[in-house]
Amino acid sequence: NLSDKLDKAFHILKGHGKITEVNVADTLKEVRRALLDADVNFKIAKDFTARVKDKAIGQDVLTTLQPGQLLVKLVKDELTELMGGDVAGINLSGTPTVILMSGLQGSGKTTFSGKLANYLKTKKGKKPLLVACDIYRPAAINQLHVVGEQVGVEVYSEPENKNPVEIAQNAIKHAKASGLNVVIVDTAGRLAVDQEMMDEIARVHSAIKPQETLFVVDSMTGQDAVNTAKAFNDILNFDGVVLTKLDGDTRGGAALSIKTVVNKPIKFVGTGEKMDALDVFYPVRMAERILGMGDVVSLVERAQEQFNEEEARKLQKKIAKNEFGFDDFLTQIQQVKKMGNMKDLVGMIPGASKAMKDIEIEDDAFKHIEAIIHSMTPGERSKPSIIDVKRKARIAKGSGTKVEQVNQLMKQFDQMSKMMKMMQGPGGKNLMKMMSG
Ligand code: GDP
Ligand code: MG
Repeated sequence: NLSDKLDKAFHILKGHGKITEVNVADTLKEVRRALLDADVNFKIAKDFTARVKDKAIGQDVLTTLQPGQLLVKLVKDELTELMGGDVAGINLSGTPTVILMSGLQGSGKTTFSGKLANYLKTKKGKKPLLVACDIYRPAAINQLHVVGEQVGVEVYSEPENKNPVEIAQNAIKHAKASGLNVVIVDTAGRLAVDQEMMDEIARVHSAIKPQETLFVVDSMTGQDAVNTAKAFNDILNFDGVVLTKLDGDTRGGAALSIKTVVNKPIKFVGTGEKMDALDVFYPVRMAERILGMGDVVSLVERAQEQFNEEEARKLQKKIAKNEFGFDDFLTQIQQVKKMGNMKDLVGMIPGASKAMKDIEIEDDAFKHIEAIIHSMTPGERSKPSIIDVKRKARIAKGSGTKVEQVNQLMKQFDQMSKMMKMMQGPGGKNLMKMMSG
């Protein structure tokens, strides 16, 4: 993948104390190859490396102490620039705000519509309405109803009506009458760009004049994504791009070239099938992620959202007094679970995604652990040292697990307690601070 390739490219530099113009060229050739392998458009990759080269040489890299780092920074800055520089917001003007989804079938429009409704409702205090304009398959309307139910947002549909323009217009009227202030219009897609689909979305677009027209694209589609983006942009002149399925074994190249080819910002990324797996797109973080630095900032932000400061302080006291027990352990597990899908989290930790890529992480990885803890008595939970062989057998039976699993958990708990004590020391302060905001 792209990170591996770039790792290799930077490795060439790390071996040398200084950069010469010759090994800048070597490294940049590797960078370019990495970009091409990731399906970045050839011309974009070429321009990109040329720009980095100009900057590298202009900045007198020859005399810097850490030339590798400087080049990483230059590549990162340039990647960030390529992907749009600053964070692009979403236009929420208009009463109601009308948001139109466009994109191929399977790109993730319906899923993203639900995620966006959820985001606007919970993070922006909006009252959204979801509109089912995919009139070709009854299943599509049902799918949107399921999504709407999941996020607690009303869904407008007219199963008998075969005119998406009318449905969208009626939905806007309905939103106005019921005091809903964002109308999210989910549309039909095709497997490939075709005239009928383009005509239809163009008609809906000109009839409802959305404040935001978003183009939804599967990030795994690589070079094709660029062509599709161009076709939709020619018709709709859309406002932003949504890059979905960035949680998979994605090639990243789409993010790099779509922006350049259509000159529209990427506004959101989808990182999972669940309704909360939506992230605002930060070009600089994406660049860091592609370069293998990990999306540390968003990991920390997500952790902060969930990790209550008060609780952190209480926990710290308990650890200091050696009172950390299984109830606290359970709370910790629940905190981690709240942070989201384990895979999403692991993907954001620098280096970890590579190390863990062959390991399947189940969402319910903690199921056994929770069952075991639930089978303990309050006394056992607060003072784990009393758990002897007899108690272990009882706990295993009660939780439907094996004694070995109980033993394993006891060991893990022991290690975690030790680690937490260590984190309280001079070196660990920062980590605790970081976790508690
Ligand atoms: P539509 O045809 O454009 O409406 O696409 P859907 O919203 O129905 O999505 C197609 C498939 O992709 C579904 O199985 C979704 O669950 C899945 N999907 C959508 N977004 C994401 C994402 O960000 N990550 C992953 N892993 N799957 C996604
Ligand atoms: Mg759909």
